[in-house]
Amino acid sequence: MDDLLRGLEPKLLWKYFLELSAIPRGSRQEAAAAAWVAAQGRALGCEVEVDEVGNVLLRKAASAGRAERPGVALQAHVDMVCEKNEGTAHDFARDPIPVYRDGDVLRARGTTLGADDGIGVAAALAALATPGLAHGPLEVLVTIDEETGLTGANAVRPGWLRSRYLLNLDSEEEGELTIGCAGGIDTVGSRPVTRAPAPAERVALRLKVSGLKGGHSGVDIAAGRGNALRILAQVLDAVLGSHDLRLAAVRGGNKRNAIPREASALVLADPGREAALRADVARLAAEWRSALGALDPGLAITVEPAAAEPALSPGDARAVVGLLLAAPHGVEAMSPDIEGLVQTSTNLAMADTRDGQVEVAFLSRSAIDASKRALGARIAATCALAGFEARHGGEYPGWKPEPGASLVRHVDAAHGALFGKPMVVKAIHAGLECGIIGEKHPGLEMVSLGPTLKDVHTPDEHVSIPSVERFWRLLCGVLERL
Ligand SMILES: [Zn+2]
Repeated sequence: MDDLLRGLEPKLLWKYFLELSAIPRGSRQEAAAAAWVAAQGRALGCEVEVDEVGNVLLRKAASAGRAERPGVALQAHVDMVCEKNEGTAHDFARDPIPVYRDGDVLRARGTTLGADDGIGVAAALAALATPGLAHGPLEVLVTIDEETGLTGANAVRPGWLRSRYLLNLDSEEEGELTIGCAGGIDTVGSRPVTRAPAPAERVALRLKVSGLKGGHSGVDIAAGRGNALRILAQVLDAVLGSHDLRLAAVRGGNKRNAIPREASALVLADPGREAALRADVARLAAEWRSALGALDPGLAITVEPAAAEPALSPGDARAVVGLLLAAPHGVEAMSPDIEGLVQTSTNLAMADTRDGQVEVAFLSRSAIDASKRALGARIAATCALAGFEARHGGEYPGWKPEPGASLVRHVDAAHGALFGKPMVVKAIHAGLECGIIGEKHPGLEMVSLGPTLKDVHTPDEHVSIPSVERFWRLLCGVLERL
């Protein structure tokens, strides 16, 4: 470790990072790492609190003469994503992360590095430990299990933090300041379906939509890519009646937070009309490929032989196709505050036919909680019109961007004074811990910042060493200014 530390600045931050990297801390297995954080806080003379799930809160009094300043909380998550290359003999439950230096970056041999968010934890501890650093009353909140469920943030007690400002240290691009995120809500519509005997002499065929790009249902929702379920519904709408098909099942999508790349329908066709059906599907595929153009050039719609299942009643089939045609998907509204930011969207994410019912699942997002709920209600109403019963779940709050807030101006001013240029102020259309923590602390002003990390959540994860040094100087500059 001493060899690695040589030439790395600031020393304290890197020392904490390397010590933390020696402790296993995959999500939901981070108890030892959280205990290490608490021990560092005790060693520094901080007030230490640990909550029921293992989040750690450290408090330190203001530096000399600054007790009247507003309190500042530094927040980071202690868990990390555990990914390794095939053939890498690494046990994430036991082995230290094999950190090494590669020129201007720090990496791990064949595994994720855990700079997401180990650098944030290390920076927060370094702020507590650095002699002579000017700051008001300081809190350090280290959360558990950000990566697989935001468990730590969700469990934070309302009012636990006393600070007026919160700096989340989990951003991945130096010079960028994140000031907002989206909340989310799941909606699942389900409809019991009855099976009716199909006319005799039918052939079972699978209509399959594939080859789409898909993507993250928040970050990529404005890209205009195809939704396999929606395209499938358009195809079914065009061919079910005209070719006297019976629908037996629809299936597609596999994650709530992914735009569906593939979907299929099982249909029972009159063998004498199969050739005409194939010709029609080929024509529809060409139309859709042309409509999507370069947005999704890989689209394929195919007809394959399949194993038969009993047919849905014609009324059920109409309802299922109708819902997949009519339900919202895509961008609902853009942000009036931040150019190019999606404010509200939904993802028509999954459909399945089993156990006597058809289920259709949506994930809606918005930075504005009222807009998110309104969209959930609209989806539920659309479901009801199609005879589906809708249930909501998995709701979490958004974080509305306020570009003119005083914390944003302070951080930007500190950056300008240090580096001679403004920060890039942005917000993301996906969930962050800030949205959840902020909801429990009305009036808490928040921003998120960090050094430059690349290829996070993969074994290629690496952090730019010079960006960490500049990130640290910015953090010190902000603490002094607030
Ligand atoms: Zn992170």
